[in-house]
Amino acid sequence: QRACRQLGLRSVVVHSEADRGASYVRRADEALCIGPAPAARSYLDQHAILMAAAATGAGAIHPGYGFLSENASFAARVEAAGMAFVGPSAATIAMMGDKIAAKRAMREAGVPCVPGTDAALPGDPVAAAHLARDIGYPLLLKATSGGGGRGMRVVAQESELAAALALTSAEARSAFGVPDIYAERYLERPRHIEIQVLCDRHGHALWLGERDCSVQRRHQKIIEESPAPGLPRDSVLAIARRCTEACRRIGYRGAGTFEFLFQDGEFAFIEMNTRLQVEHPVTEMTTGIDIVAAQLRIARGEQLGFTQAAIDPRGHAIECRINAEAPYDLTPSPGIVADWQPPAGPGVRVDSHLDAGSAVPPHYDSLIAKIIAWGATRDEALARMRGALEDTRITGIETNLALHRDLLADPTLIAGGIDIHFLDRWLAARRAA
Ligand code: ADP
Repeated sequence: QRACRQLGLRSVVVHSEADRGASYVRRADEALCIGPAPAARSYLDQHAILMAAAATGAGAIHPGYGFLSENASFAARVEAAGMAFVGPSAATIAMMGDKIAAKRAMREAGVPCVPGTDAALPGDPVAAAHLARDIGYPLLLKATSGGGGRGMRVVAQESELAAALALTSAEARSAFGVPDIYAERYLERPRHIEIQVLCDRHGHALWLGERDCSVQRRHQKIIEESPAPGLPRDSVLAIARRCTEACRRIGYRGAGTFEFLFQDGEFAFIEMNTRLQVEHPVTEMTTGIDIVAAQLRIARGEQLGFTQAAIDPRGHAIECRINAEAPYDLTPSPGIVADWQPPAGPGVRVDSHLDAGSAVPPHYDSLIAKIIAWGATRDEALARMRGALEDTRITGIETNLALHRDLLADPTLIAGGIDIHFLDRWLAARRAA
């Protein structure tokens, strides 16, 4: 909505009955209710969204970062209806949504990948075990159409493979509608590092710096920062160049993120997200580039209008994802927000739809706010984030604010460079204490 206003565009919001009272519904130029609370009957109802777009004369649809944002058939239907889909082509989304096809395309474009099978594992356990032996144990089974950190299972040894395969495949079928599974080497202490790209329709592909998203629980990020502390700049630069070259090669369009695991000095591609990401504000804070406005400009056919040399990330930015959940056992805590006092101050940004009295419905993701702090140095960004977390007040529901306050005081996190299993170890140590 802010990017639209800045570009002189009107915004239309679609929402479910559960989100009727949300602040962004009030702020939109126009708002339409598209169905009841369950996402399948509203936010995932392609027909209802297309009807709402037609009824309001919308010229483009921005899919956000959830629900249909990586749905190739939706992108195709939007374009077929004569509107712009704010994202890459349906063909690109389909290729990147199939994680095996995505890895194959990246390998061909010279991007290093996590070693693994380059086709779905066969259903026959003996044949699957044979392929798995080449990768070695422990390995990770992954759903080819997986997402959101789901559809993954670690297999420690061959004797566990057949049962794990059957279980993961059944889960993948029910969660993503596709039972196909592939195997990847399971990295024991990697960092999650990702590269943000922006590409226009005129062959320009630029990168906006990297993000370190290694603080995760259940394979989902909760703290992100940019730049990644302690990474050799020349290897970041080299991998980023590979990413922008790959974008030109596949004719990528829009904002996108290449996700890598980084271990023992090597980057290995795991997947590409063909959409805006939750953590994009850290990159906006370091580069000063409004990524959403850039997406809209690209969608209406404009050139990016700046060069790689003009992108000059400054300082350090950190984001804490505030979730409506019990801070240490991570169970969701929907309800009514009694009081909401967001932080403020130099270098502090808050992205949230909360108000005092807001309902946090049980139907959707538990993310309710993002607090982002920028500083000239990482130490300053951390200090500002600590102050921001102290200032924030949310009552009526449980949130993970206390967990963030603890983590921002943890010497290992403060030192930087932690791996993706850090938070699991931290939570286990806390339970044991
Ligand atoms: P999703 O699409 O569900 O987000 P990803 O492939 O991006 O799945 O993986 C999500 C997270 O799972 C990564 O950030 C990382 O923490 C973990 N992960 C993925 N692949 C591996 C691997 N080969 N070894 C170890 N951890 C992995």
